[in-house]
Amino acid sequence: MTTAKLIDGKAFAGQMRENIGRRVASLKEEHGPVPGLAAVLVGEDPASQVYVRNKEKQTAEAGMASVGRKLQADISQEDLLAVVAELNADPSVHGILVQLPLPDHISDKAVIETINVAKDVDGFHPVNVGALSSGDEGLVPCTPRGCMMLLKDTLGDLTGKNAVVVGRSNIVGKPIAQLLLAANCTVTIAHSRTQDLPGLCRTADILIAAVGRAQMIKGDWIKPGATVIDVGINRIDADDGKSRLVGDVDFNEAAQVAGAITPVPGGVGPMTIACLLENTLIACCRQNGLEVPGA
Ligand code: NDP
Repeated sequence: MTTAKLIDGKAFAGQMRENIGRRVASLKEEHGPVPGLAAVLVGEDPASQVYVRNKEKQTAEAGMASVGRKLQADISQEDLLAVVAELNADPSVHGILVQLPLPDHISDKAVIETINVAKDVDGFHPVNVGALSSGDEGLVPCTPRGCMMLLKDTLGDLTGKNAVVVGRSNIVGKPIAQLLLAANCTVTIAHSRTQDLPGLCRTADILIAAVGRAQMIKGDWIKPGATVIDVGINRIDADDGKSRLVGDVDFNEAAQVAGAITPVPGGVGPMTIACLLENTLIACCRQNGLEVPGA
């Protein structure tokens, strides 16, 4: 039996997108710019294609302009950097995302560092990473930002909570840890070399799972009443011969112990694109010296 409150990221993200749509419309009414988001996709990775299609659809639904650049997997790094430079120079493009992972012959770092910091709506450029860690204004990575919104909506003030983040990647684990710290949590970051991970997880009032290992975190790793945010997206074979998506947390077990938990799918995933759209709106306003229309 599920006793935990279900944190409905799908519904939250839907409301957020409607709200962004209204703010984009009010910008247009004031004869302001139409926020434009460019998505660069290299190669034909099916998961990346689905992501980019969803992003383009939701960008258009929010009343924003969507620019797609689909490039061959064998494009040279030099040519890809030239595409990024062209988007940097285009005043109708306010946000640029380059879908990761990139083919092996291209350096993610070189591409990320070429994106204009003001247009870096994924928040991966070193200047935005630095801004996050020093508490300066920048663009915050989308998935971590979405996790924080769900947490604040569920718990209100996070001050003094013990937060454990399992995973230390640059795109999820580390930025979430920074945001939790900024929200006055006491933060521990765990990874593949952490000792007694189950025991550490049991100390968490807030447990963030960003590992990429299907259902690794078990019910008896969770402190009763804790809030669990499952960032993981893993495809596993189901009993009916089909496949299904699961998180890094064993949901059925965890939902009997936790106070609140995000499902997979329908938890953190939808928040990522909603935050990307909001980052594009923010970037557009900043680039034009305008106030961001109120949330
Ligand atoms: P990475 O593979 O970059 O990082 C995984 C992290 O988990 C690493 O820090 C690694 O430790 C740690 N780890 C791996 N195995 C263990 C273990 N047995 N015990 C403890 N820690 C472990 O993944 P990402 O951060 O990019 O993504 C994590 C998950 O989130 C994936 O499932 C991904 O699909 C999902 N994701 C979901 C998004 C969404 O929109 N909902 C967006 C982005 C990602 P170490 O550093 O020591 O190797």
